[in-house]
Amino acid sequence: MPDTSTHIGTNMPLKDPFGRRITYLRLSVTDRCDLRCTYCMAEHMTFLPKPDVLSLEELLTLSRAFMDRGVRRIRLTGGEPLVRRNILWLIRELGAEVARGNLDEITLTTNGTQLPAMAADLYAAGVRRINVSLDTLDPALFERITRRDRLTQVLDGIQAAKDAGLEVKVNTVALKGLNDTELPDILAWCIERGLDLTFIETMPLGEVEEAREDHYLPLTDLVPALAKRWTLTPSGHRTGGPARYYNIEGSSSRLGLITPLTGNFCDGCNRMRVTCTGRIYMCLGQDNHVDLRAALRSGNADAGLAAAMDRAVGQKPKGHDFAIEGGRMVGTVGRHMSQTGG
Ligand code: SAM
Ligand code: SF4
Repeated sequence: MPDTSTHIGTNMPLKDPFGRRITYLRLSVTDRCDLRCTYCMAEHMTFLPKPDVLSLEELLTLSRAFMDRGVRRIRLTGGEPLVRRNILWLIRELGAEVARGNLDEITLTTNGTQLPAMAADLYAAGVRRINVSLDTLDPALFERITRRDRLTQVLDGIQAAKDAGLEVKVNTVALKGLNDTELPDILAWCIERGLDLTFIETMPLGEVEEAREDHYLPLTDLVPALAKRWTLTPSGHRTGGPARYYNIEGSSSRLGLITPLTGNFCDGCNRMRVTCTGRIYMCLGQDNHVDLRAALRSGNADAGLAAAMDRAVGQKPKGHDFAIEGGRMVGTVGRHMSQTGG
């Protein structure tokens, strides 16, 4: 790999029109995945042609451009970030930026299937925390939701991550008629293992085969059910992200809720999302975006990137428009979550 250690010139911190500082970047490194979760992807997806996807060196250049503008945490996502060829090279480079004090954290969101083989390398590269998506502990239901028979691999992956010293947070999309009755058991499973858990409401992103409303479970309905089994107290813990947290009496695990539909979470938003083709999406729930790839591939990447980032931050909206109206999801956006990254 070429030496890409020079930084793009330092600029002003990124601040949006609502005074929110952008300190967190979610970077999608691929739109591909080895699973096909029904709420995220269609069974037959057309993936992006390779030349459209940023190279690992380009992803690093972009990351550094954001770091120069005040980003302190980077989360790699996808698609499945760990199926991107040679992704450990990028993770090591970003881990080195953490070691140099240029970044507070490099982390990732993964479906866990590659963790048995990669967990130790991730730790060695400087990753300390990861989010693993897991919607059920039942093998048949796992296959129903992800269209692949990989539960054992994911559970082994979570264990491998813990063994490697990584802190693991589990993310579970709450799905009515699928995993709704199992959600308390998933919480119990996480508590037993000392893992934090965040439940997520399904969001209307991209066309999938099933009607999203069929499996939409408002998390406001879930909390009273959980409160019968555990004493939950709202926690002041904030990550600048959308989750609201509860402490669980008698446990070190924390419960998070991401409620885009029942409780808009945008006020403290500190993030931008960049796709693997170099588009900045200022908001997960809006289609508005600014292209960075042309700037990146131009002869004058520094100036082009700085101008594109300024344009993007100036257009960051106050929040998303997802809502439930008359039993239907509105404010939907056309692209899949796997494109923008969760
Ligand atoms: N493949 C990785 C994974 O599954 O963790 C990273 C990318 S995935 C798009 C990130 C997160 O988005 C996952 O936790 C997934 O469950 C969630 N997700 C995908 N589509 C969603 C949707 N329509 N509504 C809510 N969450 C969704
Ligand atoms: Fe793949 Fe993650 Fe989407 Fe599931 S949620 S299909 S694992 S990208």
